[in-house]
Amino acid sequence: MRIGIDLGGTKIEGIVLRDDGTEAARERIATPPGPYDAILVAIRDLVIRLEQRAGERCTVGVGTPGAISPATGLIKNANSTRLIGHALDKDLGRLLERPVRAANDANCFAVSEATDGAAAGLDVVFGVILGTGVGAGLVMGGRPVTGLHAIAGEWGHNPLPMADDDERPGALCYCGRHGCIETWLSGPALARQFEALTGRRMDANAVVAAADEGDAAAAALVERYCLRLARSLGSVINLVDPDAIVLGGGLSGIAALYRRVPALWASFIFSEPAHIRTRLLPPKHGDSSGVRGAAWLWNQKTENGSQKTE
Ligand SMILES: [Zn+2]
Repeated sequence: MRIGIDLGGTKIEGIVLRDDGTEAARERIATPPGPYDAILVAIRDLVIRLEQRAGERCTVGVGTPGAISPATGLIKNANSTRLIGHALDKDLGRLLERPVRAANDANCFAVSEATDGAAAGLDVVFGVILGTGVGAGLVMGGRPVTGLHAIAGEWGHNPLPMADDDERPGALCYCGRHGCIETWLSGPALARQFEALTGRRMDANAVVAAADEGDAAAAALVERYCLRLARSLGSVINLVDPDAIVLGGGLSGIAALYRRVPALWASFIFSEPAHIRTRLLPPKHGDSSGVRGAAWLWNQKTENGSQKTE
């Protein structure tokens, strides 16, 4: 069996998955305060407890904010700054006396949905998190593509494609640039746009609810959100031509996305509009995809498949 750990800023979740994807055990704890070492110890103890419940020694995969830099072996780009500069996978591997795999949390989401989720069995899958931030992961043949700098899929920090005059330069992003896709498509971005248009302050889900109830300003903004997402995903389709794009995160519950975005993206895709078959799918495992994908970082089936090409 395989253990997945989802390391978040406020909670750490652990799961034990059987080969068929069913859950043998699950536990959630608060992320301990204090130094980095406290996080390591909490994860080690969580793994030991889960393993006792599973009744066998398991593989361990961890989903983390940020990514492990291939250049240094240390975590970078994490919003949880306690992790930055540490070799989380190696440190946990020493404590647990086995190799530990770690991957960015958006990559784990994409692995989960491509393995036994909404895009199960499809070859090329782009998994997008639309939430407090905008992240994404690319999976091919069941395995995450991490890339030379471990930034593959970080499309949230590309500029919004085909920006109109009133979309330039766009808001300042924490990465230091203006007008990143994240500054347009995150939940806080949608709320900020609504306040700028109407003077009314409400969170993204309330804006969507208002649109559903016939609020004209909210409905117009949600339609513009769909158009911006269509432009942003059209550029992904032109680049990697995935079989499916799966949405996750707090905004993935917006029903209009699955209807409107595929209707809108045809004009941005370099293919015959009548024959575009890319599927835009809601997640199957929802909030559980992060922890499930971490467990699936160890997967006999995709390991065997990849050995032929390595
Ligand atoms: Zn950015």
